[in-house]
Amino acid sequence: MPAMRAVAVVPGRHGSAHLRDDAPDPRPAEGHALVRVLEAGVCGTDVEIHDGLYGEAPPGSGFLILGHENLGLVESSPPGAPVQPGDLVVATVRRPCPERCPPCARGQNDMCMTGHFLERGIRGLHGFMSERYSESPAYLVKLPRHLRGFAVLLEPMSVVQKGIDHAYRIQERLSWEPRTAVVLGAGPVGILAAMTLRLRGLDVTVAALEPEGSFKDLLLREAGVHYVSSAAIPLAELPRRTGRIDIVFEATGATAVVFPAMRMLGPDGVCILSSVTGGSQSIEVDLATWNREMVLGNRVVFGTVNAGRAHFEAGARDLEITEARLPGWLGRLITRRLPFTDVDKALVRRPEDIKTVLVFH
Ligand code: BGC
Repeated sequence: MPAMRAVAVVPGRHGSAHLRDDAPDPRPAEGHALVRVLEAGVCGTDVEIHDGLYGEAPPGSGFLILGHENLGLVESSPPGAPVQPGDLVVATVRRPCPERCPPCARGQNDMCMTGHFLERGIRGLHGFMSERYSESPAYLVKLPRHLRGFAVLLEPMSVVQKGIDHAYRIQERLSWEPRTAVVLGAGPVGILAAMTLRLRGLDVTVAALEPEGSFKDLLLREAGVHYVSSAAIPLAELPRRTGRIDIVFEATGATAVVFPAMRMLGPDGVCILSSVTGGSQSIEVDLATWNREMVLGNRVVFGTVNAGRAHFEAGARDLEITEARLPGWLGRLITRRLPFTDVDKALVRRPEDIKTVLVFH
């Protein structure tokens, strides 16, 4: 069988990321497109899979090709398909469950109810850290060529878009005019969430670990976002500084932040939890006060993961608007580009990293 090069892991085995040159070179199935991979982003989930904490190989395979943040060029596609050779595309990640639960049956695989969904590069399907992949055009989102320099950010951006869109939809329950948002965490998701909320006209503050005056602080300030270092101000004191908080977007990945995130919410506020916190951790909390505040303030907390096509498309629009308003700003979120053969270096996070990207072509 023809082979190609790829970055793979052995799920469950600690530190197993490796290069291989015997990955099956995809021959597109009937109706599928063949895509040449340009870049793949490295995210916390990839590091967890590399650490053996998460991830599942496709049935019958001893390895899983890693990678779900992707950018590629269509090489071939069925005649009349919505994407054609030469198109710049990003593939969505999740595929429907075999039972076709109601959300999966309607293209909302990101809201699967059975939990039997598959995810490319994560669970049961090979990912995108390979020279090529094959996919149904239904899962390929086309982007304008001028977004090429940062279009690999679209997958994390889609996750942000879903969380914020759902918050606004939930809040259709009342006459709501949100003014103030707090984003916790200044990784790619936190920074993209802050930008998306700015585009919606909110006054946004990001709280994260880095000291004030750091690169991330300056970057956010350029985008009109306030920055506070959580080392300098306890999270519980944030509402005193910002005024009533209408939206909290939690994106730190840290379990200890989840409870303070909910507690800082103002009346009628909505808290978006997006961190996939690994392992288990017990924390003693005052549940009576928390519950009372939730009830008496009509507050909402919800979790969000993954995203479907509509949120990828909305993300592409917001990337385009951001680039028009702040040329070059999104490109600076990619702090390292490495050849895919340097995957070992890419999986080790440096404090100054925002997004590390592997280059395939
Ligand atoms: C990805 C999502 C995925 C989630 C859980 C995240 O890193 O961005 O697409 O659903 O991990 O597997």
